[in-house]
Amino acid sequence: MATVVISVDAELAWGSHDFESVPTDRVESARDGWRTLLDRFDRYDIPATWAIVGHLFLADCEGEHPEHPSLDGWFDADPGGPASTSSRWFADGLVDALLDSPVEHDIGGHSFSHRQLNPDLDREIARAEIAATAEAAAERGLDLESFVHPGNVIGHCDLLGEYGFTCYRGHGPDLPYDGTPVEPARKLLSGAVGGRPRLVEPSIDEHGLVDVPASLYLFDVDGTPRRALHRAGFDPVLDRAKRGIEAAAEQDGVYHLWLHPNNLVEDSAVDRVERILEHVDDVRARSDLTVETMAAVAERVRADASTPTV
Ligand SMILES: [Zn+2]
Ligand SMILES: [Zn+2]
Repeated sequence: MATVVISVDAELAWGSHDFESVPTDRVESARDGWRTLLDRFDRYDIPATWAIVGHLFLADCEGEHPEHPSLDGWFDADPGGPASTSSRWFADGLVDALLDSPVEHDIGGHSFSHRQLNPDLDREIARAEIAATAEAAAERGLDLESFVHPGNVIGHCDLLGEYGFTCYRGHGPDLPYDGTPVEPARKLLSGAVGGRPRLVEPSIDEHGLVDVPASLYLFDVDGTPRRALHRAGFDPVLDRAKRGIEAAAEQDGVYHLWLHPNNLVEDSAVDRVERILEHVDDVRARSDLTVETMAAVAERVRADASTPTV
């Protein structure tokens, strides 16, 4: 099936609360970026998977989370409060905005507090991160199906199914971005030279979950290099994304893009996303290309697997 999938890692302040140096511009842009992205998805009628940090679903908290087995000061930055006074730590209306959209988005999870789920992380912490995400969403009447691991560090997938998740975003075999930083020069080179677009093959893993691997991070090339290239009228990521979208249509494949709302720190970043969505819309109008969420892909892959072949 010719399909484009877009997943959005929505985390507000949680995405960098454990960083030594917090990227203030990105944290400050995150709420506006969320609404801008939602607006552009509406404009082009494009559904996406929004992988949301579980804490954002809460209406309030005490700021301490003593029930969570992370006892190492992990929640020190959490200011607590009602959502309205700490709106970088709670969705405070942003999940409602998603639910109010005329486009049917897939609301998924991105752990409870953006703890990386390394395979050697304490099992009970991993369980708490996954369980608390599903529980916080359930309080809002939401059953989450899609999961994105913080930092793209894949681990503890066997626990996901216990809490209702059906799929996650995998690396795939040769993705340049696998959670370890890639040299900026190499990123630029791979973007400029391009190579073949990376179509992916969703598959059912050993735990019965569907792995929907990523093809391309839309801000693989960012910051000063992105701005310089934008001024020069060349955007290697836009070019690569466009070729991938066309390849999905031509080769009947799946092309999976992802980004964060906090990548939209300025107009040139919004422009990159807008031009990609416009291209998806164009190719969709003249081919069999569809746009599916991760949950929809998972449902289709599981249905295909359970259909006996004659
Ligand atoms: Zn809290
Ligand atoms: Zn994240």
